[in-house]
Amino acid sequence: MSAAQLNPHVSAMRCIRCDARHPVADYYEGCPDCLSTGFPASLAFDYHLSATFDPLRPEQWLAYPGRPFLGEGRTPLIGLTRLAEEVGVRSLSAKYEGTNPTGSHKDRMSALLVQRASDVGAVTVAAASSGNAGVSLAAYAARAGLKCVVVTTPKMSANWRRAVEMHGAELLATATAEERWQLVARKARAGEWYPATNYLTPPVGSNPFGVDGYRAIAFELFGQSRGDRPTDILVPTSRGDVLWGVAQGWHDLRKAGLISELPRVHAVEPFPRIKRVLKGADFRDTFPGGSALVSLGGTTVAFQALAALKLTGGSAVAVDEQDVLQDQSALARAGLYLELSSASALTGLRTLARQGIISPAAHVVLVATSHGYKEEARYEPLPVTSLK
Ligand SMILES: [Zn+2]
Repeated sequence: MSAAQLNPHVSAMRCIRCDARHPVADYYEGCPDCLSTGFPASLAFDYHLSATFDPLRPEQWLAYPGRPFLGEGRTPLIGLTRLAEEVGVRSLSAKYEGTNPTGSHKDRMSALLVQRASDVGAVTVAAASSGNAGVSLAAYAARAGLKCVVVTTPKMSANWRRAVEMHGAELLATATAEERWQLVARKARAGEWYPATNYLTPPVGSNPFGVDGYRAIAFELFGQSRGDRPTDILVPTSRGDVLWGVAQGWHDLRKAGLISELPRVHAVEPFPRIKRVLKGADFRDTFPGGSALVSLGGTTVAFQALAALKLTGGSAVAVDEQDVLQDQSALARAGLYLELSSASALTGLRTLARQGIISPAAHVVLVATSHGYKEEARYEPLPVTSLK
């Protein structure tokens, strides 16, 4: 792999909560000032968006610019005309992240993460993940020639486990999901692992070098939608990495004078977390709940999710698992077989449209974070069709 070079258009890092500027470095635990006052918040990059800013070359405007590593990014925008009519919005499309090399949006993050890790001489990258993030990091670490550790729980799904093992990453299981973070924290603080994901409770966002990659979703949408910009974007959300990245990307486009208004970016969650914070709860609380939407699990809220909603005027919507199962089927019958967690974007749209928060004139984009082939189903053998 050729030596990775930090984007020359990056001038500094900035706290998304207190706005303090910090030199470009690795802040695994977010803004030091905010952390010391008990309000963990992540940092983002400050770009000089000069006249040379060209969102049609999205790879050039990421923390580590350059060519895709394994073909990530530049995902298709797929029109869903029949579903638009059914839901009652002017237009509806899916930004289909399932076409990324390991089948999810996480590849955008992993591509940047391994370049940063290589640039600072890290030997081992690590993620606390029982799904898409772990598989993706394992693939990109293999590509970059780095060691990779994925910290999961004993019940990791067989399909995801198989992929991580095939990529040669080390799998470690802790007794609980929370203990995954404790192990990564210990190793990261000891300088042994370069962490891709959050390990704090309450959490910050994932590694800022990785999260930066999600800005490209906004740049690509800008290029793909031309005269008909989205008014509302729905993002399946746990701690808000994609939500924040997409909001920040549109913010960059406005800063560069390419658009005047931001689309609203909405968070779809499996049970109320962000929604409760918007109603007054402390974002540092825990919000217990369970769901079959495994990629959106967790009981915490990261500040970046709130910042994204505030920046764009978006809302949070909690969805019912049974409704999401129906929408997974509806999307599959429109040609898009998505992971259950990803299908929640359509369910969230239906709710917001019913509530009048998304209007019939809206041009809506669902961020379809991941394809469905990783899901396990158990079947009896098919009955044999007789040829007689
Ligand atoms: Zn701060």
